[in-house]
Amino acid sequence: MNIAYVGVGLIGGSFSLAIQELYGHWVMGGVSRKESTLDRAEELGLISERFSGWEAAVDWADWIILSIPVNAIQKMLPSLLDQVKDHQVVVDFGSTKGGICANVDDHPRRHQFIPAHPIAGTEYSGPEAAFSSLFKDKTMVICDPERVETKSLQAFVKVVNEIGMNISYLGAEEHDRHLAYISHLSHVTSFSLSHAVLQKERDGEVLLELAGSGFASTVRLAKSSPEMWAPIFLDNKKMLLESMETYHAHFTRLKSLLEADDLEGIISFLEKGREIRKILK
Ligand code: NAP
Repeated sequence: MNIAYVGVGLIGGSFSLAIQELYGHWVMGGVSRKESTLDRAEELGLISERFSGWEAAVDWADWIILSIPVNAIQKMLPSLLDQVKDHQVVVDFGSTKGGICANVDDHPRRHQFIPAHPIAGTEYSGPEAAFSSLFKDKTMVICDPERVETKSLQAFVKVVNEIGMNISYLGAEEHDRHLAYISHLSHVTSFSLSHAVLQKERDGEVLLELAGSGFASTVRLAKSSPEMWAPIFLDNKKMLLESMETYHAHFTRLKSLLEADDLEGIISFLEKGREIRKILK
């Protein structure tokens, strides 16, 4: 079995390592923009074959896995599906799904495309960030499974289960709505918090000395790759703006309570927010 990764960073690289631990004889190949990325990916054992472009990889691979920014996936996917043969399967690991799926909705090879989103990640990127246990006990969302040819879907699900992941099936639009609140909004608030603090606390040494673990954990996501996150924000613009409005309303409510010195009101606001602990232990 040959698997080609277009993008061998955190997500593609980690998937490759997890698969190699299970199926040592399967061959992993990579495509990237920079030769230096493929050099690193080879050195780290993420891939053993390299290709100058995705067109060359398609001639070789059984599965082609797209793990590049979502705008690049959206651009590449229709031409890639134009080229695949009957036995090949294309999977994308992008963090948004609506735009990507809509773009190939009428494609004659739509049944050979599996829109998947591994709900796992870190704030680090590139081949160095990859590690084999990233996906263990995490969830792989597969969108619109009814659009995929059954045998191909079953083969993919089997591998995903064997690397220790659960599967969740969602519609593409539904996926984007949930992820706007659960993931994309958290990144928006983390980047904004980082801006606010950097604007007022320019002295890096003081920041390092005084920053507690609360600040570190809430601002962690702002270390993520802008090249990856800006396209996610834009692709999920409608849902993300809606989630930002909701967030803004709560933020403003707390601000008003503070301005009014309303201790009871603030306690009650915090109690309500704290209910998250009943869900996330
Ligand atoms: P990453 O670590 O930055 O890796 C992406 C790799 O793709 C980079 O090493 C880059 O290498 C290459 N690349 C970028 N644009 C390319 C293009 N147009 N053509 C070919 N290669 C390209 O990013 P990642 O975290 O693995 O994310 C990959 C995908 O997974 C994204 O769609 C993201 O939304 C999704 N995802 C991310 C997470 C997360 O938490 N990080 C979680 C789930 C899903 P070069 O420098 O050589 O271009």
